Amino acid sequence: MSSEQLPESASILVIGAGVHGLSTALYAAQQGQDVLVLDKTGVGAGASGIACGVVRNNYYQPAMSELMAECVEIWEQYADELTYHDSGYIALGPPEQDSDLIEVFERQEKIGYPSELITGEDAVAEHMRGMFGDWRATGLTVCLHEKAGGFAFNKESMKGLADLARQAGAKIVEGVEVTGFEFDESGAATAVETSAGTVKVDQVVVAVGPWIEGFWEKLGLSDRIDVRRPDGSVDENLPMWTYWYLQEGEVALPPSTLNTDQGNPSPVIHVDSSAPLYADDGKLITDEQWGIYVKPDRDSVQGGASPIMLGNEFEVDPYPTGTVDDGFADMWCASLSHCFERFEGCREKFIDVRSGGVGAFTVDNFPVFDYMRPNVFVAADSNHGYKMIAVGREIARVLSGENSSLLYPFRFERFETGDLHPVSNSPYPWS
Ligand SMILES: Cc1cc2nc3c(=O)[nH]c(=O)nc-3n(C[C@H](O)[C@H](O)[C@H](O)COP(=O)(O)OP(=O)(O)OC[C@H]3O[C@@H](n4cnc5c(N)ncnc54)[C@H](O)[C@@H]3O)c2cc1C
Repeated sequence: MSSEQLPESASILVIGAGVHGLSTALYAAQQGQDVLVLDKTGVGAGASGIACGVVRNNYYQPAMSELMAECVEIWEQYADELTYHDSGYIALGPPEQDSDLIEVFERQEKIGYPSELITGEDAVAEHMRGMFGDWRATGLTVCLHEKAGGFAFNKESMKGLADLARQAGAKIVEGVEVTGFEFDESGAATAVETSAGTVKVDQVVVAVGPWIEGFWEKLGLSDRIDVRRPDGSVDENLPMWTYWYLQEGEVALPPSTLNTDQGNPSPVIHVDSSAPLYADDGKLITDEQWGIYVKPDRDSVQGGASPIMLGNEFEVDPYPTGTVDDGFADMWCASLSHCFERFEGCREKFIDVRSGGVGAFTVDNFPVFDYMRPNVFVAADSNHGYKMIAVGREIARVLSGENSSLLYPFRFERFETGDLHPVSNSPYPWS
């Protein structure tokens, strides 16, 4: 256990020191609440400390888009403390994604989120060459250039967020594992059992990222669920959780390699493409649709590609961090070279570093932010969430008795009522 001893009670006990636990602690402590955060390992030990760190608004679902706009404002407000870079974000797609990105752009216009839409292959290529003279990707017919958003450095941002929460008065105790709950007859939690003793609680926030499946069970919730579709039909007995491995990597090139021709740090770039992908030696990597993202990191160029589905159960401990698919480095480096001449030959610079990790996705691939017991609020973000720093502010509001219109669309009840989020044409569970 760290220097802070475990108190006997807490008004609000937060389990997990990732982005959701820490941002909840920050805002609840700012309200003057007595907040205790417990993490079995430490600040940023889970997905938040390994995330690529991309902050974007590009979401097809109105509720996600509105929430992200608020998140970006918080990243901007605490840019220094959170190592945030407001370089913007660019999504590029093939014709299949034209209509989605046009809709996203139109909604961003409505909510005043600053972005620019470019359509048509020539215009898209010209837009990209305006920033990167060596841009050479073909077949991309739509570009959504978000002028807000960007990226932050994962571990450092979580340490910065923890510092902000502590300054606001929250206690963060590392190295203490929550092992169970005591419930009263109404089903409310009266105490939390830990590896260092029992803590009496008024309210609990479960913000355990990929460890959610085990906590779901501890809360007496089922790992199977019926889901009503918007057309009224019901899919029965679906698995509540699915684990995916997010593959990421780095090339040992200076972050400035990605600078624009104007000398500015590059926006985060996300490309989905149907063009056949070849390695620099001409070998075909894939003739199926592929997708990648790339951004400058602290000392390198970092990004990721195709997630791998792991199944409905997964042993999260020890939390895995390492690229799993042998072909990942070939694919990601080939796609960088496909897009920019400057990355030709970058496969040799691929480095095996701690990167990539596991996320737990819900049955509809969108977050559940809701009370799952009378006084136990669960933040299960379906792996969308490093960027979602406003969720903790909203949770703090809900804990103090207010409503949150931003969190309402993510209530658990939607699976029963069929009030689901619209689904985009993206092949990935994160758009
Ligand atoms: C490789 C990868 C890249 C990603 N990139 C991005 C990105 O670029 N942008 C983006 O927005 N999202 C990204 N995500 C998703 C994002 O990282 C997660 O959605 C988000 O960080 C989850 O935050 P969290 O607070 O819920 O959980 P976590 O950050 O996982 O924190 C949970 C904490 O709970 C603690 N814990 C678990 N069990 C217990 C217990 N029994 N007792 C006490 N503590 C416990 C863990 O130690 C951990 O520190 C990425 C995810 C991965 C895996």
